Amino acid sequence: IFNPASPAPFNIQNQMLKELLADAQKNKAQNAISVWRGDITTLDCDAIVNAANSTLLGGGGVDGAIHRAAGPQLLEECKTLGGCPTGAAKITYGYNLPASYIIHTVGPIYNGKVEQRLELADCYKNSLELARKHHLHSIAFPAISTGAYAYPVDEAARIALLTCTEWINANADYGMSVVLTCFNSGVYNAYQELVKKAQNGE
Ligand code: ADP
Repeated sequence: IFNPASPAPFNIQNQMLKELLADAQKNKAQNAISVWRGDITTLDCDAIVNAANSTLLGGGGVDGAIHRAAGPQLLEECKTLGGCPTGAAKITYGYNLPASYIIHTVGPIYNGKVEQRLELADCYKNSLELARKHHLHSIAFPAISTGAYAYPVDEAARIALLTCTEWINANADYGMSVVLTCFNSGVYNAYQELVKKAQNGE
């Protein structure tokens, strides 16, 4: 758990994650960031985030996995949303998922321009804002843009961790448990490096 106030993050184990998410559902969310390896569609949290494309009509990668797991009603609801610009976020129900809601956000398609850092940060910030607006206290993110959208994993992981930390610190009175999910070892290793650096005070 990465507690932004006193950084001590680690690769959270399933049982502990379950307890953390259960606490969040009882309105006892810790201000914590966990790094967890696994499939985001299995997580029983208030909201999981979808790294969608701007049509919001489904795609490959995590988007495809979420649509398959949530069932066809998700696409029906997504059709009513009118798409989503890069960096913004929209919410739907979770349907057949264990998670109650899905927050759909659209990451930048990597082209090397520095402005994209802000767009990627906006994905995290706007998703967290939307979760708060809906009174949600636990949220799981995939590593947005690091798959088909080809964002370099190290920079994407840094932006994810920093943006979530800043948001939690700015909303410390609210209580939010954030889970950063890693589906492949590249993403996991990137978070682990950052966590090591944070522990060393770098
Ligand atoms: P993008 O188009 O934003 O790059 P992708 O879905 O291609 O989105 O990839 C984003 C990240 O999601 C990648 O790191 C990929 O490994 C990860 N991912 C894919 N499937 C899942 C899943 N079921 N759970 C969590 N993360 C996933």
